[in-house]
Amino acid sequence: MSICYLEGTFRPTEECALPVTDLAIIRGVGVFDSLRSFDGKPFALEEHMKRLEDSALRVGIAVGDTVDRIKQIISDGLIRSDCPNGGSCLVRSYITGGDTNDLGLFPNPRHFIIFSKAEPPSDEEYRTGVSLLPTSESRYYPTIKSINYLAGIMQCAGRSDVWECLYCPGGEITETLASSFFVYMDGTIFTAPLGAVLGGVTRNIVIDLARTYGFKVVEHALRLSDLPAADEAFITGTLKDVLPVVKVGDIVIGDGKPGPVAARLLRLFREYRERRLKGGQ
Ligand SMILES: *Cc1c(COP(=O)(O)O)cnc(C)c1O
Repeated sequence: MSICYLEGTFRPTEECALPVTDLAIIRGVGVFDSLRSFDGKPFALEEHMKRLEDSALRVGIAVGDTVDRIKQIISDGLIRSDCPNGGSCLVRSYITGGDTNDLGLFPNPRHFIIFSKAEPPSDEEYRTGVSLLPTSESRYYPTIKSINYLAGIMQCAGRSDVWECLYCPGGEITETLASSFFVYMDGTIFTAPLGAVLGGVTRNIVIDLARTYGFKVVEHALRLSDLPAADEAFITGTLKDVLPVVKVGDIVIGDGKPGPVAARLLRLFREYRERRLKGGQ
């Protein structure tokens, strides 16, 4: 069962409701962060909470001690939720603009947190890889994890054959609807630089691991026109870990099958996560 924390209480998620006057509802003013827990332990809590706070501050939301409170609520919620028994929870923490817009600043934010069962991609999706659809749209304020996903959602509306839209403003590849995007080409791993994209927690760990294990990683945005020469592509994110991409629009990546670099990074990432969870972080 999915539970939600709002204003001092945990309750079933379907009973959790914001007032219609909240600026998240009427103006789209809100930020969030998703993390996963394993056997009741949150993974990379500090990185996720830092990004949540940074996102809120950039939007002009007065965060105060909200993020410290959210950390405490996450630890309480993981005890109450029924998904930790050998399983994995998705923990989504939101900070909204609240009811007051003070010249573009939000002095009285609300926060709520949803604990639900994590539903990662299927084994089949890892085995066959996924397709992306390029769009010339871009995410606005790319360094903020905002609740507004409209540009990417609309461009892929009705497309059951694509996993996510891939933002390619002016032909330059940035990231997907909700994942960081990587290419392996000529022995080098490429991904767009921070600033042009969100600082994905998975992205940053995968880059560090890749460098540690001897890969060359270049933070540079490739162009769609570079993709026919790519050997592999993959996306990263909290639920996906490292998921192979075999097609972008009409472009087949490499031989159209998931490749060894994505598989190796997926293994390295999962081993790293195990180590960190054992170490109590
Ligand atoms: C959440 C998100 C990601 C992935 O971030 P993780 O911290 O790895 O889950 C990447 N790009 C966008 C646009 C996102 O919203």
